[in-house]
Amino acid sequence: MSRYFSERYASLKPYVPGEQPQDRQYVKLNTNESPFPPSEAAIAYANENARSYELYSDIEAVLLREELAKTYHVPPECIMVSDGSDEMLNFAFLAFGSEARPAVFPDITYGFYRVYADIDRIPYREIPLEDDLTIDLKRYEGQKAVIFLANPNAPTGIALEPEEIERLARRSPESVIVVDEAYVDFGARSCVPLIQRLNNLLVVQTFSKSRSLAGARLGFAIGCPDLMRDMQTIRYSLNPYNVNSFTLALGIGVLRDAETVRSNCEAIIKNRAYLTEGLKAMGFVCTPSMANFVFARHLRLNGRLLYEMLKDRGVLVRHFDQSRIRQYNRITVGTIEQIDRLLQETARILNE
Ligand code: PMP
Repeated sequence: MSRYFSERYASLKPYVPGEQPQDRQYVKLNTNESPFPPSEAAIAYANENARSYELYSDIEAVLLREELAKTYHVPPECIMVSDGSDEMLNFAFLAFGSEARPAVFPDITYGFYRVYADIDRIPYREIPLEDDLTIDLKRYEGQKAVIFLANPNAPTGIALEPEEIERLARRSPESVIVVDEAYVDFGARSCVPLIQRLNNLLVVQTFSKSRSLAGARLGFAIGCPDLMRDMQTIRYSLNPYNVNSFTLALGIGVLRDAETVRSNCEAIIKNRAYLTEGLKAMGFVCTPSMANFVFARHLRLNGRLLYEMLKDRGVLVRHFDQSRIRQYNRITVGTIEQIDRLLQETARILNE
């Protein structure tokens, strides 16, 4: 820390992203990216249609929002876009969180929520997951809060049903419910249809996972026009040209080739079952994941040790040094070849 660093942030603990090592080639199953590239048709569309780079990007993202509106059957004024969904989550903290409306989220969930609450100076409360790592929404009801729910949750992959979230929203009219659907396309049910009848529900999604655009950085939110206006006030106050021209066009290209996204999701769901079966056969216990990752612990082998031994052998998974989940590793669902390599290396480690 330099002597100039603001004392406000002296104790800030930044988000720790999954490793992106450049030292050697790994089988990279640690940051939940898609193992499949975006389609050539999507890239060709972007190359032909990205607005001239000497001009700023379209501040209203008109064409992309229209395409999202068609995909999700909601009016364009219910949609906004961001530089990855992380940025959108930060907008939501800033727009709705305050001393009077603190943030609430599970104790085991996406690690960025705590970091945004800290940097934005919004008080927060973490509600413990149940013993089986599920979320009991009754514990969130009736407060005045901004409630962040990753659905499916990360890193457990366990999903809530939209009916449960609707009940929470109706029983908590003083709260804003932010549903982070980063992993919703791998078998869970989306809350997007609920936004037409709930004025306190904001759904956040990303192009980073099912749509293969982690490196392009594109997220979006869907909610009622009033919530959108609040979010736009924050966006215009921080970074109005937040999505670059190429990414705007690439997003449209990917949406127009919905068939590729659908078949990639189908492959991930199949591969998830293959990975889960392979792990179970070796004595792992897995949470019932609806995401593009599996959260697994072995009855005999220490979680951290397994992570380290796999890394030595060129396979990267994600380990969280958090007391209740120390025994687990989160493994991204890759291609069959990547999964076979992970299973082979794990079997060797177990036999040593
Ligand atoms: N929400 C959850 C639950 C995530 O795991 C991630 C990925 N790290 C994000 C949001 C953010 O993804 P992105 O910024 O790439 O859209």
